[in-house]
Amino acid sequence: MTIDKDFLDILACPKCKGELALTEEHDELTCEKCRLGYEVRDGVPIMLIEEARNLDTAR
Ligand SMILES: [Zn+2]
Repeated sequence: MTIDKDFLDILACPKCKGELALTEEHDELTCEKCRLGYEVRDGVPIMLIEEARNLDTAR
């Protein structure tokens, strides 16, 4: 399952309300500003700051 473009357009970073970028693998939405990555689980993005990972930290 993938996230379509229209759906992605309505999504915003819960922290800065900025734009999110979808990874090529479609498994994560990233905010370059906050350096946070929101996991996409079974096609559903987990839009929680507490659940987000720091992009500067290895998985
Ligand atoms: Zn952000």
